[in-house]
Amino acid sequence: MKIVYYPHPALRHPTKPLAAIDRQVHLDAGRMLDLMYENKGLGLASNQVFLSYRIVVLNPTGDPQQRDKEEVLLNPVVLERKGTIEGEEGCLSFPDLFQKIRRAKTVRVQAYNLRGEVVEKTIGDLEARLWQHEVDHLDGILFIDKMGPIARLSSRASLKKFEQDFQRGREKGEIPSETELERMIQAHDEELEKNGGTPPLEQPPAL
Ligand SMILES: [Zn+2]
Repeated sequence: MKIVYYPHPALRHPTKPLAAIDRQVHLDAGRMLDLMYENKGLGLASNQVFLSYRIVVLNPTGDPQQRDKEEVLLNPVVLERKGTIEGEEGCLSFPDLFQKIRRAKTVRVQAYNLRGEVVEKTIGDLEARLWQHEVDHLDGILFIDKMGPIARLSSRASLKKFEQDFQRGREKGEIPSETELERMIQAHDEELEKNGGTPPLEQPPAL
């Protein structure tokens, strides 16, 4: 498992609701948390590690010593948004790019945890920003899509650099071709669909 960088197509591929929590989900969550801490991130979404179901890991402190603050969110949704606030934001798929992004100030959110329980809460500040950023990822939406004109303009050079690096990686054969990627995403989806034999979630995902 590794983090993919913009403009990797997996970042634009909407993920599918998870139907059952099995051993693999626990393993993926653990690996994602490790990767998040290693890269000094506060959150990581499945698209960023090339998984095709809806899972997010986060810890607003970013501190691996504060494991009590970390969360694994399955099929997370933002139910309600209130107010707006601008704040600095970055993304593990865009190393070293930080820009001011406008987000809802307070959000009511819902997700399943790893025990299959529904967690619902109203949150604000950094935690609200994190949730919005990560749930967007699951729908193939990136923080660059949310930038205002000034942030967009001042990110142009960095984005160009990411695109060139990606192209170079592809030429060197480090990144699979578009057709190869499509095939891999398809295979992931099929694997997900036949992922039976485990108890389904008690309620359908709230979408
Ligand atoms: Zn991100």
